[in-house]
Amino acid sequence: MAPQGTSTTNDMIAGDLTDPAHLPRLTRRLTGFLPQEIKAIDSTIPLQSRNLWHKHQVTKFENAEEFETRFINHVETTLARSLYNCDDFAAYEATSSSLKDNLVIDWNKTQQRLTTKDPKRVYYMSLEFLMGKALDNALINMKISFIPKNNGKNGDSIKARQMIKNSLQDLGFNLEDLLNQEPDAALGNGGLGRLAACFMDSMSTKDIPVWGYGLRYKYGIFAQKIIDGYQIETPDYWLTKGNPWEIARNEIQVPVTFYGYVDRKDGDTSTLNPSQWVGGERVLAVPFDFPVPGFNTTTVNNLRLWEARPTTEFDFAKFNSGDYRNSVKEQQRAEAITACLYPNDNFLQGKELRLKQQYFWCAATLHDIVRRFKKTQRPWSEFPDQVAIQLNDTHPTLAVVELQRILIDLEKIEWHEAWKIVNGTFSYTNHTVMQEALEKWPISLFGRMLPRHLEIIYDINWFFLNQVEKKFPKDVDFLSRISLIEESSPERQIRMAYLAIVGSHKVNGVAELHSELIKTTIFADFVKFYGASKFINVTNGITPRRWLRQCNPELSDLISGTLNEDVKEEYLLDLPRLTKLQDFVDDENFQRKWNQVKLNNKKRLGNFIKQQNNGEHIINMDHLNDTLIDVQVKRIHEYKRQQMNILGVIHRYLSMKNMFKQGASFEEVEKVYPRKVSVFGGKSAPGYFMAKLIIKLINAVAEVVNRDSEIQDLLKVVFISNYNVSAAEIIIPASDISEHISTAGTEASGTSNMKFVMNGGLIIGTVDGANIEITREIGEENIFLFGNLSENVQELRYDHQFHKTNISDNLQMVLHELVIGTFSEENTSEFKPIWDSIVQHGDYYLVSDDFDSYLATQELVDKTFHSNRTEWIKKSIYSVANVGFFSSDRCIEEYAGTIWNVEPLTPE
Ligand SMILES: *Cc1c(COP(=O)(O)O)cnc(C)c1O
Repeated sequence: MAPQGTSTTNDMIAGDLTDPAHLPRLTRRLTGFLPQEIKAIDSTIPLQSRNLWHKHQVTKFENAEEFETRFINHVETTLARSLYNCDDFAAYEATSSSLKDNLVIDWNKTQQRLTTKDPKRVYYMSLEFLMGKALDNALINMKISFIPKNNGKNGDSIKARQMIKNSLQDLGFNLEDLLNQEPDAALGNGGLGRLAACFMDSMSTKDIPVWGYGLRYKYGIFAQKIIDGYQIETPDYWLTKGNPWEIARNEIQVPVTFYGYVDRKDGDTSTLNPSQWVGGERVLAVPFDFPVPGFNTTTVNNLRLWEARPTTEFDFAKFNSGDYRNSVKEQQRAEAITACLYPNDNFLQGKELRLKQQYFWCAATLHDIVRRFKKTQRPWSEFPDQVAIQLNDTHPTLAVVELQRILIDLEKIEWHEAWKIVNGTFSYTNHTVMQEALEKWPISLFGRMLPRHLEIIYDINWFFLNQVEKKFPKDVDFLSRISLIEESSPERQIRMAYLAIVGSHKVNGVAELHSELIKTTIFADFVKFYGASKFINVTNGITPRRWLRQCNPELSDLISGTLNEDVKEEYLLDLPRLTKLQDFVDDENFQRKWNQVKLNNKKRLGNFIKQQNNGEHIINMDHLNDTLIDVQVKRIHEYKRQQMNILGVIHRYLSMKNMFKQGASFEEVEKVYPRKVSVFGGKSAPGYFMAKLIIKLINAVAEVVNRDSEIQDLLKVVFISNYNVSAAEIIIPASDISEHISTAGTEASGTSNMKFVMNGGLIIGTVDGANIEITREIGEENIFLFGNLSENVQELRYDHQFHKTNISDNLQMVLHELVIGTFSEENTSEFKPIWDSIVQHGDYYLVSDDFDSYLATQELVDKTFHSNRTEWIKKSIYSVANVGFFSSDRCIEEYAGTIWNVEPLTPE
């Protein structure tokens, strides 16, 4: 069997040109080379094919009529339907296909431009891309200003989205209904995957040449159902009805091997010399491409997701012995590799199939990147000048080892020369300091699947430890601490984060506090060895196209109108322009409009909740303006402290009941505890017992509170099931206040905090992650901070371990109800584990330390919202005006300048 990586069954890669003779002809058409240059090259091409090419015209639709023609063509040919049996889903498909046609034309031009200009490119490797829906995003990002249909006067223009909405209306369809037909591309767990999606949007918008690389999971993150208050996971088979946004490249098949053994020439014992890995199991990687459009540019980048397929090789020995069924079965095992996204967020589950996924993806991706580089015929030393590979967390760390293997085993480059190339190419983003999330692989599992890679890791470690030993002689303790191999029981493990650091030239954290923490805690030894300059910060951001323009059209219309940017919406490309909104904070008319937008979005959320609740309203829709909508939506995790939130809700409920018991009137209770809806949403990892119990508690509290006739609608609790990007787009614009209340030092950055602020919601939060920088940008008078600081966490945890945990009266009152069955009549002890974790097991997440200040801050929130609404609205306006820093466009500029050293490649 041929060693992996030496050949592909088909060496054609879309976006590249196989025949150099084609280059000039394409170049002229697509990049506008000088005519004389073209003439010289054109003459090398036979007249016949030249004429054919010149006649050939692929064009984008550029007005309503052309869109409609394209739409009808797709209905009748692509879908083989007629307009008479075209339902909403078919219309969604035809609209998407029409838009994709335009995108693909620009995609081709972008890729041709890259081939001819050959600048340095970025490769963003992420096991997760949480893209959400594509259609509305494509409509919004599409280059604006079309000529309107019918009597369009000269100089008139209309935004693409509006034009298509009108066209669809004429054809008998409602755009919003079509948008709802699209399933979410939910190939991610939460923040990390959504960050990758926002970065792709910003890189296209900023004309940065990038290819994203990931896996095309058949099943994305599971769909969450709530049954009797419990989370039930159901498979997310998002491809049931096909996917009009992807382009299958069936003609490209990259072989990837696993297991087997290492073969070396007779007498050669050095693992540093070229060695041949003879793989045991072999599968094929087939790419699917997703065009990623930028906003108001014709740059369209590529997101390439690999799918695993069986090889066409067949075990004839088995076949001939009559074991046909088993020989087919083995083939089918290949498909398991990309079947399923692992549903853990910030938690390592060291499963063999996960490692297989990772290597499959890294091998296919590196093969693609190396192949593309080799076409340029540049010397290998120029590889880091042409290629920047960003590792999104440690999941793609095998790519470091795979490139080293390609260079020494296949390209026969000397070890140190190869390692210099590797190091100049990679950079690594760390996403957490939590021990349980740090990736480690047992040596035996790893060595069996990837025997040659294990040798290479040992050699990397050997040279690395040699350098360390030179700088810090005889410090055995230091050497064992910093080693890539952890001498742990029951077995030694590879520390993937350490490998990523050693293999990269830059390591970044994702918010200032987090980037400081990694330097002083988990990577402190590496700072001691390398110095601090290898470790930098790039604070996360979000794309304002999706998280303002797309999810909150009313607010973005109000903003663009106010800034006089109705047509071009320049602020969406330069978010700090929003500071101009500060001129309007005292404008009462503007305040009124601002509040009306929030109210409309709250109505939209109210209806969404009604839909989820079988058509019954939980929220009183008549009182929305004086109801505080308090939201916590994110993955359910003890460190994110949804338990503290729900305990706070219970405290409020008990206090209200007490007032009633002591004879207070409804109005008197309302004065102290004005109308509030607590909204929760988020998925728990399927095997995470405590997170699932927290979901059950929230639903159990909702059950009691919502049907309490005394309380009426002064307090409602809602758990929104199946939180995902599309749900976020409805929930976030509706929030008055949202909760980002992680134990200080545990949330690396958070990105939903930024989304809420961008939509005019205020924040209650701990001094953690990007909350700190948000405070700096919007002003501390516009955010509700509380709780212990990260520098005190260690000591507090230590105290809990050795002394009794101090439970305040407030917390005591609430915890008591948990164990007497107020919220679990059938099983009184159901919520005991939550009580235990705080009272008995050392309260690792410091709920007891922060609870009273949390309650006090909630009280301040109520007071501000209900007793001085104008002040509240001003805070909201100030927040949006100063959220500009958190655009992912700013992140991408920082990555491009300080890590990748790449320049934009602007069209024209
Ligand atoms: C933004 C986002 C997240 C991240 O939320 P955090 O509060 O930062 O953890 C998770 N899930 C979805 C669907 C998101 O859009």
